[in-house]
Amino acid sequence: MPGYEVIDNEERKEVDKIFKDGGVLFRHSFNHLRNNSYKVDEFEKKFALKMGSKYALAVTSGTAALRVALATLKLKPGDEVITQSFTFVATVEAIIESRATPVCTEINDTLNMDPSDLIKKISSKTKAVIVVHMLGVPAEIGKIKKICKKNNLILIEDTAWGCGGKINKKYLGTIGDIGTYSFDFAKTITTGEGGMILFKNKKSYEYANAWHDHGHENNPRVPRWEDTRKSSGFNYRMTEMQAAVGIVQLKKLDNIIKMQRENRSKIFNEIKDLDGIDFRKMPNFSFDSADALIFFTENKLKALKCRNSLIKSGLTTKILPEATTWHFAKEWTHMPELKQIKNKNAFNSSKRLLDRSVSIPINVNMQNKIPKKIKTAIEGILKKS
Ligand SMILES: *Cc1c(COP(=O)(O)O)cnc(C)c1O
Repeated sequence: MPGYEVIDNEERKEVDKIFKDGGVLFRHSFNHLRNNSYKVDEFEKKFALKMGSKYALAVTSGTAALRVALATLKLKPGDEVITQSFTFVATVEAIIESRATPVCTEINDTLNMDPSDLIKKISSKTKAVIVVHMLGVPAEIGKIKKICKKNNLILIEDTAWGCGGKINKKYLGTIGDIGTYSFDFAKTITTGEGGMILFKNKKSYEYANAWHDHGHENNPRVPRWEDTRKSSGFNYRMTEMQAAVGIVQLKKLDNIIKMQRENRSKIFNEIKDLDGIDFRKMPNFSFDSADALIFFTENKLKALKCRNSLIKSGLTTKILPEATTWHFAKEWTHMPELKQIKNKNAFNSSKRLLDRSVSIPINVNMQNKIPKKIKTAIEGILKKS
């Protein structure tokens, strides 16, 4: 989960520095008042360097990151963007806000996009694919990238839930054309609210940079109020305070991932040999961020029983099996823009998988007795009848 678990005085000191340097909270201008302190610029540079990417753009949230990424595609009404049925509602909202039509694929036993269903969902209107690394596990990005290339589609990685994860030694979010990140308060690293976008293509980066700032090109030859512009845009600018927190959180990312992976392994080792347990599949060469540990039970009833038993033991689950309201397309009856919602059979195969999934949240700080407690709570329930 948990940038919030490791927030301490270090973040506070970095914010204090802004006030000592003159208190300029805006990323641009006011050069004579800020003692050369540019936190958003610094955060972008450090994030790009860490991930091994060329261009990073900080924004106000992970949802904004998706919206700005889609702005670079210049979508028209009727264009389709494909994502997966199991994701946070924001992925689909960003497509709707971009005036395109959202289409969702089924998931497979990785609980991420099913590449074979992606092929079926591509139409002559499809312009882009947003693959999601849900709950810290890499999607089958190799296969998906090939499909996108063959069909001439832009590939965006929604890495809101996968920051610090890798596949084939590459950071998630750097494999497709564009990668988006969230730093909301429940994410691996946090700035309270915030997001980041990584681009491979310089022109896309430049377009997004202007678009997220009302079209401002920040032309160094003119003052900001006389700035040059080529497109309209919107305002998704990050503040200096968010970036100051982000700079410190980024330094903590490696340790967060290390601790989560250790704690995940401790729980996994305790329960892996239980009768009737099966685990979420990970693509080859995955290095997951270990945000959660997900296992499959025999059926829906057993998943619910595991949940109840975990809660009775003072433990929790995360999203699955019960809290799919905001994370599963089949539930989004409030969203007429998602036309598939009218089809009663849509996402049934995804539902069968999610119904029998139990997700255990992983924290940075874990008491030693937790893995045993989890085992005790679920072992009696899992046995196949
Ligand atoms: C959290 C999340 C988002 C949205 O990020 P915010 O910063 O909360 O706007 C988008 N997609 C996924 C998969 C997420 O988990």
